[in-house]
Amino acid sequence: MKLYNTLSRQIDILKPINEPEVTIYTCGPTVYDYPHIGNWFTFIRYDLLVRSLQALGYKTKWVLNITDVGHLVSDADQGEDKLVKQAVKENKDAWSIAKSYTDYFVEGLTRLNISTPDFMPKATEHIQEQIDFIKKLEDNKLTYKTSDGVYFDVAKFPQYIKLARLNLEDQVEGARVEINPEKHRQIDFALWKFSPSEGKRDMEWDSPWGKGFPGWHIECSAMALKYLGPTMDIHAGGIDHIPVHHTNEIAQSEAVNNKPLANIWFHTNHVSVDGKKISKSLGNGITLEDLESRNLPLDALRLLVIQSNYINQSQFTYELMNGAFSSLKNLIRDFSWIYSATGNEINSGELRAKIKKSRKTILDYMADNLNTPRALSTLHDLASYLGNLNSISKEDMEIVENFGHFINSIFGINIVRKINLSKDQSDLIKERSIYRTNKEWEKADNSRLLLEKQGIGLRDVGESSLWFPLT
Ligand SMILES: [Zn+2]
Repeated sequence: MKLYNTLSRQIDILKPINEPEVTIYTCGPTVYDYPHIGNWFTFIRYDLLVRSLQALGYKTKWVLNITDVGHLVSDADQGEDKLVKQAVKENKDAWSIAKSYTDYFVEGLTRLNISTPDFMPKATEHIQEQIDFIKKLEDNKLTYKTSDGVYFDVAKFPQYIKLARLNLEDQVEGARVEINPEKHRQIDFALWKFSPSEGKRDMEWDSPWGKGFPGWHIECSAMALKYLGPTMDIHAGGIDHIPVHHTNEIAQSEAVNNKPLANIWFHTNHVSVDGKKISKSLGNGITLEDLESRNLPLDALRLLVIQSNYINQSQFTYELMNGAFSSLKNLIRDFSWIYSATGNEINSGELRAKIKKSRKTILDYMADNLNTPRALSTLHDLASYLGNLNSISKEDMEIVENFGHFINSIFGINIVRKINLSKDQSDLIKERSIYRTNKEWEKADNSRLLLEKQGIGLRDVGESSLWFPLT
C-alpha cells in the first residue's frame, strides 16, 4: 500500500511495524451535533482505507475516538466547550448531549455500512490516562500552569513545526480568537483546563492541578498510547487537523514516548457544498436525514465519495448526488440480472478473464494511494461488458456473485442484489412476454410499469426478459 504522507510530503510505501498487522488511529467526531456531509465523507474515507488494507491481506487494528469533552469552540483554548454550548441550547446537560450524539454517530456508521472500528474510546472514559500523560509531560518540564489551566510549552519542543511545516512567527498572533496574556506563547496549548471558580461544570474531574477537564488534544495522545502503543502505522484525520490538533498530538506524544507517533499521516481533503465551504452560518451542513428525505439512499453517498480522490477537494451538490444514485442503479442493473438468466451451460472464458483482471486492477488502484476514481472506472468498464450479456452459466453466475462480495468488501456497496420474485410478479413477466409476442404494446407497457412500481426492472432479450432490482 502506498499513501501520501503529510509528514514527508510524498507518497510513501506502508511498512507495517508488525506485519501483517496495521495499526490505525483516526480522529473521530466531537459529539455535540449531527455530523454533516463533510464529516461523513471523512469517515467513509477512513473506512475505505481500512477495507482496502484488509483486502490487501493486512490485519487492521483500528481506533476511532469519540471526543465528548474538552473540544472548545475555537479549536484552540478559547471559548466554550462545544458540548456545553449545545447543552445550553437544547436545555440539557453535557452528559446527555454526549450520549445522544454518540448514539447517533454509531448508528450512522451502521447506516453507511462503515466497518465497526476495533476500539471507539471516549475521552470521558479515559480521564485517568490523560492525567497520567500530563504528569509525564510535567516530569519532563514541558508544562506550565496559569490561572486557567496547565499548558504545553511549545518552546521546549523545537520539532513542533515539522508536520505542518509551520512558520511559528506567522502563527502567533492573528488567527486566534483572543490573546491569553498568561500564555508564554500564543501557540502553547491547554492540557488541562480548570473549572470556573464559581458554579459547577456538568463534566469535571479532580486532578493534581485542580478540578477541571482535559484539553482536546491530550485524549488522542493518551488513548493512542493505550490502544496502539507509542508508534502506530497510520494516523488519519481531516486536513484541518494538520496545523493545530495533529501538531499538538505529535508534540505531546513524542515528548513523552521519544518515538514517532505515526509513520504515515493520512489526511482527507475538504468537501464543499455547492462550491462553498460547509459552515453553520451558511446552513449547508447537510445531514443523512436530508438525503433520505429526498429518497437518496446512503449507498449512493458512498458511491459519490468513491468518485473523487481523497487528496483533492470533493464537491457535494444534489445534482452530483443524483448522478451518483443513477450510477448506482446502473451498476445494480448490470450485475444483478444474472439471477434471472435462464441458464447457459457454457462457461465463458472471456467473462472469467475479465473478472479476474478487474479484481486485480481495482486492488492495484486502491493500493496506489487509494485511487478510488480509477478503481471505480474499472468497475464501470466491467459493468458495461456484463450488462450486455444475455445469458450466463450457473458457475459463471457464482463467479459474478463472488466478485460482488469482493466489491462490497472494498467499497462497502452491494451491487449484486438478489430478489425473489413473488408468484404474481413472475406471472406478470410471463404475461408481458405474451403481450409482446402479440404486439399488444400498451398492455406490455402497463405490465412493465406495474413491475417498476414494485422495484423490478426489465431488460428484454428476444421474446423473454431479464429482470433485476431497481435499487
Ligand atoms: Zn485526534
